Amino acid sequence: MTTRLILATRNTGKITELRAILAAADLPHELVGADAYPDVPDVRETGVTFAENALLKAHALARATGLPAVADDSGLCVDVLGGAPGIFSARWAGRHGDDKANLDLLLAQLADIDDAHRTAHFTCAAALALPDGTERVVEGHLKGVLVHTPTGTHGFGYDPILRPAGDTRTCAELTPPEKNTISHRGKAFRSLVPAVRELLG
Ligand code: IMP
Repeated sequence: MTTRLILATRNTGKITELRAILAAADLPHELVGADAYPDVPDVRETGVTFAENALLKAHALARATGLPAVADDSGLCVDVLGGAPGIFSARWAGRHGDDKANLDLLLAQLADIDDAHRTAHFTCAAALALPDGTERVVEGHLKGVLVHTPTGTHGFGYDPILRPAGDTRTCAELTPPEKNTISHRGKAFRSLVPAVRELLG
């Protein structure tokens, strides 16, 4: 029987990316979004690191469903802001998940900052939790520079303003496969695959 592996997110942008990344790893598991379990309440992200929050989400879903669960917690860390928005990336402008308001506020905050000091990186912590409490967590990063004008139509969140180091395009101008190859989420989940194979067979 195929083991179900639950993806602990309701963010459709992230579900699409996670499916593509994990499908490429050819895992023998059925990947199911958390949407398939509408009665499971959203977990409060009380952790103060990406890893803590990813583990909280994975454990909550694994406990509630009795199935192995993977979760991520991710965000944008801006050097000149001391790593902010960081774990507050999804609600930087005050409302959870308002991508445009978050991006506009960040650009306004950085308006006077020259290109040399606009370095930033995306971070993703990817966690696997089993119903018995077993856990694994790994991280991936994508470094780049923040442009002044949002550019591109792909992706989500801060993609239109993060230009990966060594590229001339923003993340939102990359095709989904191009982004997955270099992204923080791609790196983190590819690093998690050996743990999935080890613990789930
Ligand atoms: P989470 O759902 O708590 O992990 O919050 C992630 C937030 O970080 C998103 O709402 C985005 O604002 C931002 N973020 C994370 N990964 C990406 C990415 O790949 N592209 C653009 N923004 C991202």
